[in-house]
Amino acid sequence: MMPLVQEVPAQVRSLERFVPLLGQTAVDEARALAQGLHERLAGGVIWNVNSTAVGGGVAEMLHSLLGYARGAGLDVRWLTIGGAPEFFRITKRLHHALHGEHGDGSALDEAAHHVYAKTLSRNAVELRELVRPGDVVLLHDPQPAGLAPMLLAAGARVLWRCHIGADETNEEVELGWRFLARYLDGVGCMIFSRQRYVPARYRDGRASIVQPSIDAFSAKNIELDEHTVRSILVHVGILEGPPPPSPRYAFVRSDGTPGRVERSADILRLGRASAWETPLVVQVSRWDPLKDMLGVLRGFSILVQNHAAPTVDLVLAGPNVRAVADDPEGPAVFEAVYRAFLEQPPAIRAHVHLAMLPTADVEENAVIVNALQRHATIVAQKSLHEGFGLTVTEAMWKARPVIASAVGGIQDQIEDGVSGVLLRDPTDLDTFAGELHRVLADRALAERLGAAARARVRERFLGIRHLVQYGAIIERLLV
Ligand code: UDP
Repeated sequence: MMPLVQEVPAQVRSLERFVPLLGQTAVDEARALAQGLHERLAGGVIWNVNSTAVGGGVAEMLHSLLGYARGAGLDVRWLTIGGAPEFFRITKRLHHALHGEHGDGSALDEAAHHVYAKTLSRNAVELRELVRPGDVVLLHDPQPAGLAPMLLAAGARVLWRCHIGADETNEEVELGWRFLARYLDGVGCMIFSRQRYVPARYRDGRASIVQPSIDAFSAKNIELDEHTVRSILVHVGILEGPPPPSPRYAFVRSDGTPGRVERSADILRLGRASAWETPLVVQVSRWDPLKDMLGVLRGFSILVQNHAAPTVDLVLAGPNVRAVADDPEGPAVFEAVYRAFLEQPPAIRAHVHLAMLPTADVEENAVIVNALQRHATIVAQKSLHEGFGLTVTEAMWKARPVIASAVGGIQDQIEDGVSGVLLRDPTDLDTFAGELHRVLADRALAERLGAAARARVRERFLGIRHLVQYGAIIERLLV
């Protein structure tokens, strides 16, 4: 039988790259912290456990954080857990609950506990072969949270990292926390993205706050010149045009080896390719109802109908729904967006492009997202809830004007009217269309928002700050 637990290989990335961005002192301090941790761990391993290696913010951050931690000499590793679709249906239900939503509305009852705990027990049997007493285990999000009691009993030091949360509590939020309490109450160290996300029961000194950041040197965010952007997007069929004259769709992988964007069988596109000159509105997200791809499509439709000129296209891009195991809603959400797309009048459909990006090769996927974000005239993130929108930070770093919902962490990321535009009511599609029009029509405004966005990311959401915060928290755990 296939093992449930899989190790995700991590590349070693050098901290040296941050010297030009952040200075030698910052890099030296990070190294010294890693060295101290290394000695304290005395041969122990820091494990990260989540449920997928691709598609979503957690996977995105783990790839780079792991690489830099390994580059600083720490033995940090990454495991994914597995389970049957029923397990992931329950964890998705939990995920929605912690955002304050009822998801599929199913009961989080004893039967759900049974499936959840039983799946994690089977994973724990495999984990106990790997994790030794004294090792540090970071469990990410609700999927592996239930491993905590078993790992603690095995002598591991357990830390729970919660990447989601709701600004306001409601019945669903309470329900979600009640479900998890059975597994998490014994965990003495937790990390959240915002203070408001810490549930009352854990406001007892055990919670730390860490704001997620992005990796400026990953395939997702590395500088790409215009020619490369164009070549990649023509090559995958998002932009129209002749095939690129030279293989500039090649890119450098984080381990320094060459990579190539292939027009892989894995990419699925619906709609018409855009012309290079046509302004583009882009939203890149998982096919999750909380990302509201459907609302973006409807808002865009209002834009085209009410604010006619100039011509503008929309790309909604996300992972290939068949490839992401822990997102059971993906196919249905994509299907709903596709149906809404078909219902649009031809004049609108001609300007909309749905793309499922290949996921088999994480860096190929990343470089396509990178090119798409760089080419975007406006990046939208019209989420209904968001723990912290990495896509927002990614687009800001690329100096794009971002129009995003004033929900969750996005409110910490964008200062409204300065480093982007915040939508007070994300369900108000007329305002969304109006804001799209306002930014499309005013190039100076777009540039100003983009420049301020980039500066803000450089200041707050970049580089090794994130790593240093994790290091300090783990150091306390080891005392
Ligand atoms: N992402 C990606 N390919 C996709 C869709 C999303 O690489 O097809 C990435 C995206 O660039 C970002 C992450 O997945 O890095 C999504 O993180 P975010 O915090 O925005 O949302 P989450 O998916 O964690 O809710």
